[in-house]
Amino acid sequence: MQSDQTPSREVVILGGTFDPFHLGHRAILAQVMEQLRIPEGWVIPLHSPGHRHTPVASPEDRLAMAALGVRGLSGVEVRDSEIRRGGVTYTVDTAQEIAHSSAAPDQWYIVGADEARTLHEWHAWPKLLAYARLAIVNRTGKAPISLEECAAQGIPSSRMAILTVDSPPVSATALRTALSDRGQDQFVMKFLDQAVLSYIREHHLYEKSGT
Ligand code: ATP
Repeated sequence: MQSDQTPSREVVILGGTFDPFHLGHRAILAQVMEQLRIPEGWVIPLHSPGHRHTPVASPEDRLAMAALGVRGLSGVEVRDSEIRRGGVTYTVDTAQEIAHSSAAPDQWYIVGADEARTLHEWHAWPKLLAYARLAIVNRTGKAPISLEECAAQGIPSSRMAILTVDSPPVSATALRTALSDRGQDQFVMKFLDQAVLSYIREHHLYEKSGT
């Protein structure tokens, strides 16, 4: 049995489409783990986002790119649980699955400030907060969210931490557009891990424009 003095095992979780996995994803995970002093991180690519367009790359390719993108990050692993579950991904289902697993760690979910502002639109969000705490991240170049704003969203202070991370100005959408245009190689090389870029080229991903 654990004594009261034994800290429980904690994990930082970064979910997302990762279409493709880029250096912003790597930066946010590494910095949140460092700031929370949690040595374990899980990247969980979603299967299918309910609220937006279907990902361009297949679940298998997105999983492979995430695995290449976290190489060398100590304590980080990529998990295929949402992709195996299939269908529309709800974060709360993943959090519940982890909470009910053996040796379940305490969960910290990374959410951007914009996502925190619309938390009330998330499926079963109060239940999610029962399973996981939120690492709410203010990113470079984005309007920061305050403690008061989070409280107004109904997020108890005991279930969140607000962090500030230095993140590169890139999105997967911008990368997909740039990848379809060989004239933008410099942008692509700046924000993608070399191994992820090689995978994309080898598998001819994102070559058509309008993705
Ligand atoms: P898209 O452009 O397709 O919407 P994205 O680049 O925003 O994709 P997601 O897979 O939707 O990537 O994001 C997963 C997580 O990574 C989210 O929590 C998001 O806030 C965070 N994230 C996305 N881009 C960056 C970035 N440049 N720096 C830090 N975190 C980022």
